[in-house]
Amino acid sequence: MNYSIALVPGDGIGPDVIDQAVKILDAAGDKFGHVFNYVELEAGGCAIDKIGEPLAAETLEAAKQCDAVLLGAVGGPKWETLPGRLRPERALLELRSGLGVYANLRPAALLPQLRDACPLKDEVLAAGNSGGKPGFDILIVRELTGGLYFGPRGRSADGSSAFDTETYSRAEIERVLRTGYAAAAVRRKKVCVVDKANVLESSRLWRETAAETAKEYPAIETSYLYVDNCAMQLIRAPGQFDVIITSNLFGDILSDEASVLTGSIGMLASASLAGSGAGKPGDKIMGIYEPIHGSAPDIAGRDIANPLAAILSTAMMLRYSFGLEEEALAVEAAVNAVLDSGLRTRDIAGIGAGKQEKIAGTKAMGEAVLKALEKRGG
Ligand code: NAD
Repeated sequence: MNYSIALVPGDGIGPDVIDQAVKILDAAGDKFGHVFNYVELEAGGCAIDKIGEPLAAETLEAAKQCDAVLLGAVGGPKWETLPGRLRPERALLELRSGLGVYANLRPAALLPQLRDACPLKDEVLAAGNSGGKPGFDILIVRELTGGLYFGPRGRSADGSSAFDTETYSRAEIERVLRTGYAAAAVRRKKVCVVDKANVLESSRLWRETAAETAKEYPAIETSYLYVDNCAMQLIRAPGQFDVIITSNLFGDILSDEASVLTGSIGMLASASLAGSGAGKPGDKIMGIYEPIHGSAPDIAGRDIANPLAAILSTAMMLRYSFGLEEEALAVEAAVNAVLDSGLRTRDIAGIGAGKQEKIAGTKAMGEAVLKALEKRGG
């Protein structure tokens, strides 16, 4: 099968990590008989330097023609003083709205090799975990294009008061719920809907819509939590969660909280989907795949950045945009094998490898994952 992928390396370490991610995609293609064709696009600070705006209309059009987007990161001190509409981050917002991606998926799992990077005690990590072993594997599904960040806002005439508005329609809530349920169906089959239904009317609509939608997924256990309780439960017993589905604002905050539990920002991938996720090989669902870290200008171009978040983003692309579960698992297993071998980039040095530890740069880490992927299963 052929797939066309828009590559948007962006700024800072974006190109460093995307180079490695592409190697891994190509290796997965060779191994499983797929062809990935790339369309390289400029967005963010590099586009501002070249054409004076963060995302050209033609760039967005070109991305729309592709099956999925792999993005590095945008931004940096050079562009920080520009007015809002000319800032690099604008490119992200315009890509998201232009491609209609409305569900943001952020996995937060504790890799056993990096257990020591997690600030929680073993007994906390074991609490609520069905296996009774320390660990967690959570997927936070955040609504991305509605709610408080997009509702009417303003100031009173004298500027002494201000308001923001949380608005959601049933349709907006239902489609993101469906993305979450589809993900839960191939995971541990548990969904927790997080809201503030004891106070907010918009949250009561979330709860009503969730109760209706849940009836269509009898094989999946649905529970409900208020957001304040969820924030607490994440650090009291993270093992109890499988898929958390929530609004734009709550998802923004909870996904950052959950990411701290995993240790390093250089390890965390994300996906933003324009559908409920590919169900089988041959499907093509538009999505933007990117590491959660920024452009890290302090280490850009120095062969230091951890490429694993970008590499794990390709695994998410294979799974959620193309329904290629076996291929996604192979990439994830290759990353695991490399961590098992003791190889570490600088940001995860001193974590869990003991005497086996060997420090690698960006390229060496990418190369090691490539070898591990090629070796697996012949
Ligand atoms: P950052 O994520 O770029 O960096 C935070 C810290 O983590 C830095 O010390 C950095 O060196 C380190 N780090 C980040 N990724 C790493 C990796 N893969 N390997 C090793 N170390 C890594 O956040 P910041 O410093 O707040 O932001 C820098 C720029 O990136 C800003 O212009 C910001 O606006 C932009 N940004 C972009 C995105 C995006 O494109 N999605 C997200 C966040 C920040």
